[in-house]
Amino acid sequence: MLVLGLETTCDETAAAIVRRCGEGPGEILSNVVRGQVEEHAAYGGVVPEIAARAHVEALDGVVAKALKDAGVAVTDLDGVAAAAGPGLVGGVIVGLTAGKAYALVAQKPFVGVNHLEAHALTARLTDGVAFPYLLLLASGGHTQLLAVLGVGRYVRLGSTIDDALGEAFDKIAKMLGLGYPGGPEVEKRARSGDPARFAFPRPMQGRAEPNFSLSGLKTAVRIEAERIAPISEADVDDLCASFQAAAVDVVADRTRAAQRIFAERYGRPTALVAAGGVAANGPIRQALTRLASGSGTRLVAPPLPLCGDNGAMIAWAGAERLALGLTDGLDFAPRPRWPLDAAAAQPGAKA
Ligand code: ATP
Ligand code: MG
Ligand code: FE
Repeated sequence: MLVLGLETTCDETAAAIVRRCGEGPGEILSNVVRGQVEEHAAYGGVVPEIAARAHVEALDGVVAKALKDAGVAVTDLDGVAAAAGPGLVGGVIVGLTAGKAYALVAQKPFVGVNHLEAHALTARLTDGVAFPYLLLLASGGHTQLLAVLGVGRYVRLGSTIDDALGEAFDKIAKMLGLGYPGGPEVEKRARSGDPARFAFPRPMQGRAEPNFSLSGLKTAVRIEAERIAPISEADVDDLCASFQAAAVDVVADRTRAAQRIFAERYGRPTALVAAGGVAANGPIRQALTRLASGSGTRLVAPPLPLCGDNGAMIAWAGAERLALGLTDGLDFAPRPRWPLDAAAAQPGAKA
């Protein structure tokens, strides 16, 4: 089964062709991502109106390249999937409209994909992970621990009550004058810093419910940076290293709490899975690897290009739904807010 996937929910214009042949991992025939870092750099964050216009300009070329790289014609496709949310509505409209148009031209089924479901199922694309698994979904807009029981069957065990983890990395980078997106910058600077210089808090540590709170940690970094101002390059390294050390501890502690609840309710997970942009973070991956092996399972985290937003994950989620006979009409409406565990995400649910 060959599926074209389109991603335009935030600041990446992306298209990919993925093949699914039964259970087991999929095959990525092409994966084209055009980022918008330059367009938004001056603003220190994503500007929705600029993002939507950039998607309009880039999408046709990105899709053409994805088809060409894969050596596939539109008529060879078995379906077209587009991210229909959650995300910035302007961008979602661009990708959704284009996806419907390609499906119409190809006379093939259309699937409106939940962007978070696509992150959640990436471990099946890359590693063929079987259900049920425990998922840490940590990105720029979300931080959740979920039991993934099947396609469309997600139970949220916990989530952040304030900032997302990626958002905390981004805000700290901005505060310290580093570039956007902040995660990779903070990780880089942390490598030459002292993780023990500042004793930042580990919010929620030891709580049974696997929720996160990250805004207090972010504020603690700001207060410290202001206290020692003017800050040197070495201070920036130390602030990044000490923040990241706290973030790693928080992730490990909250994931451990979720493991307990998962085991009580669902038994043994087939894997601990990490997804979303923050899953690219080296020390976080290492901590989760240790946690998984310590509890008799393994960590599955996507290769770095598949952690952040991409078209392959959308195509794959579309393929998984098509394989279950789940398709959507060309009247499928954008869903700028679309929680993964709501009834709306259940198989067969219509807009
Ligand atoms: P969502 O998926 O919630 O809609 P999004 O699509 O913007 O949000 P992603 O593209 O999945 O999020 O991830 C981007 C986020 O990941 C950014 O906040 C970025 O700083 C963070 N990130 C990327 N690389 C790293 C890293 N190495 N360490 C920490 N955070 C990182
Ligand atoms: Mg992004
Ligand atoms: Fe994302």
